[in-house]
Amino acid sequence: MRKSTGRVCKLGVMGGTFDPIHYGHLVAAEGAREELALDKVIFIPAGKPPHKPGHDLADAGDRYLMTGLAIDSNIFFEVSSIEIDRPGPSYTVDTIQFIMNQYPGAEIYFITGADAILEIITWKNVERLLSLCYFVAASRPGYRLDELWEKVGAFIQCPEKKILGMEVPALAISSTDIRRRVREGKTIKYLLPEPVEEYIAKKKLYRR
Ligand code: NAP
Repeated sequence: MRKSTGRVCKLGVMGGTFDPIHYGHLVAAEGAREELALDKVIFIPAGKPPHKPGHDLADAGDRYLMTGLAIDSNIFFEVSSIEIDRPGPSYTVDTIQFIMNQYPGAEIYFITGADAILEIITWKNVERLLSLCYFVAASRPGYRLDELWEKVGAFIQCPEKKILGMEVPALAISSTDIRRRVREGKTIKYLLPEPVEEYIAKKKLYRR
């Protein structure tokens, strides 16, 4: 990722395994960009997700390339390989610190799934992380955000101000379901951008 040259004051950082990226992720990122008036959203595919040791993930390079293909048509979206290039587990606190150094003074919004944020109290240096940025918890309609705030409330005052909820109906699409469909030979058309669908077919991903 290049060091920022222009003034970027509100930055979205879209964290996820993206195995593979799909329309739910893209709708969530675009919704957050619009609602929070973000200058841009940087997608950061996790290199080695710390909570998934031993999981049979697609190669990090493939997940990075698929993310690039998916965001190509949106001038407000970028993809970064920082977590893939960094050795060891992909801790979010290290990523946010890195981004802050690249964009001094920027207000950072870390966007990810509400279920992932529900586990935030188990993440590395959570107190420091919570002091560095805001969080956007993307969820399906009907998700109990009050439960999430209750859990994180032990760590920070007013978690509902620090962790913003965002309902995203398109998140009915899930990477797990897409992988299962490919494995079973079912269609994944209209669940993710066509270039990503073509990439999965060309590289024969998720067939096992
Ligand atoms: P996950 O546990 O695989 O995902 C939990 C749920 O959130 C799934 O329903 C998932 O749907 C959804 N989700 C994931 N990323 C999303 C996104 N960007 N937008 C909307 N929904 C999303 O979570 P994960 O993808 O591995 O991790 C999420 C982020 O948290 C990553 O950036 C990861 O590095 C970070 N994290 C950090 C630590 C740490 O620092 N110790 C620990 C855990 C996670 P899909 O399966 O359809 O994506």
